[in-house]
Amino acid sequence: MIFTIHLLVGAAIATQIKIIPLAFLLAFFSHYFLDSLPHWDYFVKNIQIKNWGESLPEFLKGGLDMLLGLGIILFFSRDIFVLLGAFFAVLVDVLIFLNLIFSSKWLKIHNDLHLKIHFPEDKKVSSFLTIPNQLIIVIIAVFFLR
Ligand SMILES: [Zn+2]
Repeated sequence: MIFTIHLLVGAAIATQIKIIPLAFLLAFFSHYFLDSLPHWDYFVKNIQIKNWGESLPEFLKGGLDMLLGLGIILFFSRDIFVLLGAFFAVLVDVLIFLNLIFSSKWLKIHNDLHLKIHFPEDKKVSSFLTIPNQLIIVIIAVFFLR
């Protein structure tokens, strides 16, 4: 699922759960839950196969996606706790990226687990299913962020 949605959900969790460690934990695990739902993603194939030479457009897409999510959150809240909730919600993908760069047994185990949980990327799902799915999540997250 795209960064914007992960960030918004993590931030929304942090606005609702006042027990800080629990909020961060829930934000972190929300990532796996969201990834398991049928969703639309943009491709980052070059990054995934470490074809760095052609990966710039994918990094730009990811960067814009991050900025969009952060921008929406900052529009509603400047609370550092809320921003940290957003951070914990995308931490999983940071670990996935680190796995591409460093060879670590634990990163590899996490990577395989994430792949198992993730909605199959090659599964063709009609956008009639995936787009409303994601819109509903965004609307609920923004509702709690306000
Ligand atoms: Zn993910």
